[in-house]
Amino acid sequence: MSDPLANAIPAPNALAATKLPAWFIADLHLTANRPQTARAFFDFISGPARQAGSLFILGDLFESWAGDDDAGSPFNRDVCEALRECSSAGTEIFFMSGNRDLLIGDGFARAAGVRLLADPTVIRFDSRTILLSHGDMLCTDDYDYQAFRRQARDPSWQAGFLAKPLAARREFVDQARMQSEAAKQNKRAEIMDVNADAVASLLRAHGYPVFIHGHTHRPGHRAYLLDGHRCERHVLADWHDRALWLAYDGEGFAAQSS
Ligand code: MN
Repeated sequence: MSDPLANAIPAPNALAATKLPAWFIADLHLTANRPQTARAFFDFISGPARQAGSLFILGDLFESWAGDDDAGSPFNRDVCEALRECSSAGTEIFFMSGNRDLLIGDGFARAAGVRLLADPTVIRFDSRTILLSHGDMLCTDDYDYQAFRRQARDPSWQAGFLAKPLAARREFVDQARMQSEAAKQNKRAEIMDVNADAVASLLRAHGYPVFIHGHTHRPGHRAYLLDGHRCERHVLADWHDRALWLAYDGEGFAAQSS
């Protein structure tokens, strides 16, 4: 049987159990142009997030990211500092990039005091194995997007892009973002959701873990049987005017908000 993701999914990073509770967030799409969401983030990271043993940011923390030298712009610098303060206060923070901030690298990780994760990553807790992904790799019905994704994740394309001046890169990512927003208007909603076969292949390949992802902005929780195994998939909420996170305490999951 042909596996549609056989060549598309990199081997996962494996991570030993992290400190509990583990909290998961994604799709904040932070930008100085959305002050309510920025406020929700700064309140969250300087307040509730400090109760988490570990915090997993599963991509699209930023609305756009033109390269790690972008960490010096005033808004991005404030975000990095807030993350670093939270991590200094004892919450271990992990970061997986999404499609909007896929150019995030070691420079950001150092500035923000976070550990970078590959997409996908598996965490093994005593009672459960949890698989983490941003989620965009599973939107296999969106051929145009997958073509863009292949290009943007190609190391030689990235090297060429990052060699351009920061101002030119910012202009490019802003245009790409507007084009993607415009293209979305003409796509059917099902095309922009994850493909069920792609999810099944991923879960099968990793021993039917609990699966947590973002990207689709369709928050929710689904439990179902796959090949006779109980499967659980949590889709993280995108942020608007308040913080939204999924908490795991070692036994169960709960959607929480500020
Ligand atoms: Mn995304």
